[in-house]
Amino acid sequence: MSELKSTPAVNATGGSITGAMSTFDHEQVVFCQDNATGLKAIIAIHNTTLGPAVGGTRMWAYASESDAITDVLRLSRGMTYKSALAGLNIGGGKAVIIGNARTDKSEALVRRFGKFVNSLGGKYITAEDVGISTRDMEYVKMETNHVVGLPEYRGGSGDPSPVTAYGVYMGMKASVKQLTGNDSLAGKKVLVQGVGHVGEYLVEHLVKENAKVMIADIYDDRVKHVVDTYGVTAVNVDEVYKQDMDIYSPCALGATINDETLAMLNCGIVCGAANNQLKDEKVHGVKVLEKGMLYAPDYLVNAGGIINCYWEIIGYNRNAALAQAEQIYQTTLDIYKKSSEDKIPTYLAANQMAEARIAAVGEMKKKI
Ligand code: NAD
Repeated sequence: MSELKSTPAVNATGGSITGAMSTFDHEQVVFCQDNATGLKAIIAIHNTTLGPAVGGTRMWAYASESDAITDVLRLSRGMTYKSALAGLNIGGGKAVIIGNARTDKSEALVRRFGKFVNSLGGKYITAEDVGISTRDMEYVKMETNHVVGLPEYRGGSGDPSPVTAYGVYMGMKASVKQLTGNDSLAGKKVLVQGVGHVGEYLVEHLVKENAKVMIADIYDDRVKHVVDTYGVTAVNVDEVYKQDMDIYSPCALGATINDETLAMLNCGIVCGAANNQLKDEKVHGVKVLEKGMLYAPDYLVNAGGIINCYWEIIGYNRNAALAQAEQIYQTTLDIYKKSSEDKIPTYLAANQMAEARIAAVGEMKKKI
């Protein structure tokens, strides 16, 4: 059951939704429909063993309902693993609103969605995701308190990116420690691909530690800003994988570890913020291992965002969120240890550790 990418596709179960749910033991799926606002949404609750299901709401013009269901089942399960491995007492959930975020969204539609979230009584707590803006989250908040990731002026935890970047930095230091016995990044050649919210904060940490930083971004103004501010070197976006580097840090897109890039990449460590870095975890997780590269599992090292949300649920404190993100260092080392002892790829070691925590805490909770 430890393969996260194996999607419980509805098509694979002959259109049976409960069949797809049973593949990875999803607890509940809620279909939400409203003619007046045009809302069509699906909320998936994968696992609440550790606590309420938390995960963002995505608005996307899915080609079919079955694509939407497949996506929400896959994403909610991913959240269960991410929160479990980060040591949080929350479970995995996700919601999708079916529609074009530019043309189909209205205040009434988003607030109606908020009412559906509210009807679950806190079993699912929502947050922002693709196609949903901060303004939309404020609309959701008008209808329910079961929402996190709000801006600071609304009493929320604000931009999670500094916490995410700190977690990636911790994962990177642990990876260097694993490889060299010393966790210093001084003099290490690090390429940060994508210097947006997370990438820029990461560059700041790296420069402070005297790493030799290279950056790439599709937007020239981002590149200029980061080069001018931190004195780092820019490389062309098409030249990223050929660079001479110790650490490749994907902070833009998913699936950048694939057959083509692995043929070019010559680095000891892959550690970055992007989600789903392995194009196919079963194939490329193994290939990375065979190449002798250390892959810091993406959903562990980028868990700062959900850690930040967690602290918003239990009482926000930025320093506490950063302290918890610091624990990513030890968890990364634990994953490398398990990967090396069990001779399995790091993504699998991460998945098994998440499953073990859910099982152990679940057993503990049964006792009086
Ligand atoms: P962002 O949109 O602010 O930054 C992404 C940057 O990547 C942008 O500057 C963009 O121009 C650049 N980019 C896009 N395509 C590129 C390419 N082909 N080559 C080089 N640069 C490219 O996003 P972010 O919030 O910084 O998040 C970065 C990644 O981390 C995303 O994959 C996101 O899903 C993931 N993530 C972010 C958080 C968070 O707290 N923001 C948490 C978990 C995961």
